Amino acid sequence: MSFQIACPNCGVRPVWEFHYGGPVTSSAPPNPTERQWGAYLFDKPNICGEQHEWWVHRSACKTWFTAKRDTRTNTVLSTAMHGEG
Ligand SMILES: [Zn+2]
Repeated sequence: MSFQIACPNCGVRPVWEFHYGGPVTSSAPPNPTERQWGAYLFDKPNICGEQHEWWVHRSACKTWFTAKRDTRTNTVLSTAMHGEG
């Protein structure tokens, strides 16, 4: 599996320079019960198609950003600093 990701700081780089941080999810519920907290932590969506994800450019600028990736083709459709996209 090899593809490229456009870091918002550094531009397009090979995927091995990055680390996947998991899907972007909504915030945890306020004052969750133990069951709600477990569901928030572990019931992650397994999307077939376009997914909004966290990535960090661990080999260079160490910036965390979000990316939209098509999980069927591993095509990164767009990237953005957190809060921009
Ligand atoms: Zn970078």
